[in-house]
Order: sequence, then structure tokens, then C-alpha cells
Amino acid sequence: QRNERESMMLVSEFAGKYFTKMLNETDEGKSVGLGYFRSRGFRDDIIHKFDLGYSPEKKDALTNEATKQGYKLEYLEKTGLTIVRDDYKADRFRGRVMFPIHSLAGKVIAFGGRILKTDVKTAKYLNSPESEIYHKSRVLYGIFQAKQEITRHDMCYLVEGYTDVLSFHQAGISNVVASSGTALTPDQIRLIARFTKNITIIYDGDPAGIKASLRGIDLVLAEGMNVKVLLLPDGEDPDTFAKERSEEELTQYIQDNQKDFIKFKTSLLLEDAQNDPIKRAQLIQDIVRSISTIPDSIIRSVYMKECSSLLKVDERVLVQEIGKLQRKKS
Ligand code: ATP
Ligand code: MN
Ligand code: MN
Ligand code: MN
Repeated sequence: QRNERESMMLVSEFAGKYFTKMLNETDEGKSVGLGYFRSRGFRDDIIHKFDLGYSPEKKDALTNEATKQGYKLEYLEKTGLTIVRDDYKADRFRGRVMFPIHSLAGKVIAFGGRILKTDVKTAKYLNSPESEIYHKSRVLYGIFQAKQEITRHDMCYLVEGYTDVLSFHQAGISNVVASSGTALTPDQIRLIARFTKNITIIYDGDPAGIKASLRGIDLVLAEGMNVKVLLLPDGEDPDTFAKERSEEELTQYIQDNQKDFIKFKTSLLLEDAQNDPIKRAQLIQDIVRSISTIPDSIIRSVYMKECSSLLKVDERVLVQEIGKLQRKKS
């Protein structure tokens, strides 16, 4: 429904402005929220570029102000900004630093909110629920701020989280987006595909990040796009990594260490496969499966050649195996 969507967009826009106002103009926001962003080393220009905000501790600060200004509770509830139960209503986001999520056109459609102290009781990030204006599987954090630079560089970096995106911008690299808490989806990749066919995945340097990278590779290949991977040292994420380096050092490191997906998989899996023939065979199967998802036959054959020489397998065997897998799929 058009009017409903419109009303939800309006109340989201209002909430975005409210949270930035709280961050920049109230004592609580300045000391707690701005203090937090600054303690993490984020500059004011980045805080403004991404319209970062702060949600007050008070139970219904936003809900009160919004309804006072004529916004209907119905839309506050539908966007998930207010939680309503029988005789109880409260703000969803309280005492958090706020990351508005923008549509491709730059409209605020949802929020991510981070707690300030990492205690075990509460989840670190809280996000808006799915709604008529926010389908999280179709949105990428930072796409609005990145799209021009993605086109200009004909390349897009894909990272995990909000602060990874912020830190890359702060380091001078703006062609970057994050899947932000959802497992990467085909729709998200198609969104990037509108601007470039080239993606470099830079996920956190931990087992979860590696696993997500492997999954991301196959999704990107299935969309007929080119994918490289940069594996960060264990314990680092793009945010911490970028903060320790100048723009030149960062770009240089990426240039020197990003790998095309076959080299990435090979180096990763050869570590424990080494001379074990069964493991080697499994590794080859695994790479063959990735190659078989590439829609373009010419690109497929280029990768088969690479795989053949890297793993020292007869190319004809690979061609046969991929043929088998493709027949199975169709
Ligand atoms: P920070 O640097 O602020 O601690 P991060 O981005 O490094 O955050 P990760 O734990 O690496 O946090 O998670 C990556 C992303 O996944 C986050 O930016 C967030 O979008 C999402 N995420 C993490 N934890 C949660 C959660 N509990 N609920 C929803 N989304 C989450
Ligand atoms: Mn992580
Ligand atoms: Mn992280
Ligand atoms: Mn982090």
C-alpha cells in the first residue's frame, strides 16, 4: 500500500533526524554517543556522512516526541521503532549509537543500533525488523554512500559490518558495502551488479569470516561476476585493520594480498590437505563445484586452466567433472 509505505518512510526519516539531533545536541548524546564514536577514532566528517545518531536511555523518548509531532503510533510500530503491547509502549532502540540504513536512493528505511558496553547479557547490535519498507535481504549497508565510487572504480569491496564500512571511508576508500548481520543473498549481489561486476570480499579474519567468504564466493560466481578475497590476519576486521594504516598502506596491502577465488580456496585448503590424496581429491571437488556455478563457459574454461595448473590435475578430467555437475543441475 502506497500510503502506508509513504507514512513509514516519513516516520523513519523523522527518527533518523531525531537520533542525529540527540547525538549532536544533547548532553547525554554528546557525552555517551559522540564520546563512544570518538573513542573508536571516528572523525566528525564520517559521523555526518553516515548520519550516525544516538537513542536516549529514556523508555519512550522517540515515541513521545514523534507522536507529539503528529506521527501515528501505527507507523512507529510498523517500522519497529516502537514496541507496542496491550498497555505498554516503548522505544525499540535505547541507549545505543545508531546507524541509519539508507535505500539506494538515500532514504532512511531502517536502523542498526549498537550497545556501548559489550556485556554478555544483550546482543551487541539490534536491527529494525523486516517491514514493508525494509527487506534486509535486498539492502546493503552503505550502498547509497558508495554507488558513485563503485562505478568510478568498477569495483566494490564487501565487508561484514557497519564500522568496517565507516573505517574504509575514513581511510579514503569509499567503494565499500556491508551485508550487516544477514548472510549474503543473491539479491544483495544483484544490487552490486548494477554498478560493477567486480567484487572483493574482505571479511573478518576469524573462522566465521572464512566460512562466510567461501559461501560468498559461490554466490558471486553464480551471478556471473568476478570475485576476489582478501583474508585478514586472525583477530582483525576491516575496521581495526584500516584504522592502523594510511590509505596508501591499505591499498597496497589489498593489492598485494587479495587472491582470486581459486588461489584463495587452494591456499586455504591445501594447508591441511598437503599430501593426503583423499583430502586433495576433496579440495579439487570443492573447487570444481565452484567453477561449475559460473554461467559463462569461456570464463569457466579460463578457471579450469588455472585450477589444472595450480593443483596439477589433467584439464580433461576437470572438464569431465564439471560436465557431470552441470548435467546434474539442469
Ligand atoms: P564492532 O566493531 O562494533 O564490535 P563488528 O561490525 O565488528 O562490530 P561483528 O561481530 O564482526 O561486529 O559483526 C558484523 C556485523 O554483523 C555487525 O556490524 C552487525 O551488522 C551484525 N551483527 C553482529 N552481531 C549482531 C547481532 N547480535 N544482531 C544482529 N546483527 C548483528
Ligand atoms: Mn566477526
Ligand atoms: Mn567485525
Ligand atoms: Mn569490529
